[in-house]
Amino acid sequence: MLPTASPVPQGRTLPLADWYRANARDLPWRRAAFHEQFGAWGVLVSEFMLQQTQVSRVIPRLDAWLERWPTPTAMAAATPAEVVQQWANLGYPRRALWLHRAAVEVVERHGGVVPRDVEALLALSGIGDYTARAVSVFAYGDRHPVVDTNTRRVLARAVEGRSHPASPSRRDLLLMESLLPSSDAESAVFNAAAMELGATVCTARSPQCEICPLLGECAWVADGRPDTGDARRRQAAFEGSDRQARGAVLRVLRGAGEDGVALETVLPDWPDPVQRDRAIDSLIADGLAEAAEGSLSLPR
Ligand code: SF4
Repeated sequence: MLPTASPVPQGRTLPLADWYRANARDLPWRRAAFHEQFGAWGVLVSEFMLQQTQVSRVIPRLDAWLERWPTPTAMAAATPAEVVQQWANLGYPRRALWLHRAAVEVVERHGGVVPRDVEALLALSGIGDYTARAVSVFAYGDRHPVVDTNTRRVLARAVEGRSHPASPSRRDLLLMESLLPSSDAESAVFNAAAMELGATVCTARSPQCEICPLLGECAWVADGRPDTGDARRRQAAFEGSDRQARGAVLRVLRGAGEDGVALETVLPDWPDPVQRDRAIDSLIADGLAEAAEGSLSLPR
């Protein structure tokens, strides 16, 4: 339970459940067969991958991942190099190492069973407020507020009359908790529905209010859709970025054998050698690459 002292609006309900049941996308991690086969581990892996990566890119990688490592125990036995290799082009590859560490921790602390308790989940590597609650709610059916970027936008508009959400804060969880239905099952549906509405209808740039189930209750629409001047964070350009350089170095290492490649052969024609070297240094610092005796490789 979250702290109760908060100036969030109370007593609101948002009619999302029927809309969700009729309109939710058929995604692998929502299917009963997926839960039967992979349980909370499948939910945990999918949530790791969905952090900062689009659904369409996650689906094939998730299938391959769970086929190779269907349990935390299976994954804990893998090497860091194998998980970074398997992560491929999902982006932000530190997530692969965190997921691997989390699998090891699940084996060591919880006998190979992904925990249900939010605090125990939060204690695992790479797991924050969103993922911990998502696993507890979507894998185990517990009642907690689950707030991602899409939900924050829906709440900002429908409840608070803002064009875009303010910076993430504890208040997001309190506001979502105040809106949850009382039953565990319905609160899980509500959590999923708010995310789905933000992903498909109440999008950042072109909300489709005319087909939105909240149109009649939306505070932002009622106010005439004002630009409330909230900070809008835009993703930094990828082209020419350090992220792009890190990705290029990792592609070289994935294509190399266990012994890696000679350092001087890593991207010799990269347009900015300083940026390339910075990318190599940061990959080593993050544990995503290892340098030894003049060669660079994935972590062994
Ligand atoms: S009515 Fe429009 S702005 Fe309001 S929640 Fe729906 S899509 Fe978003």
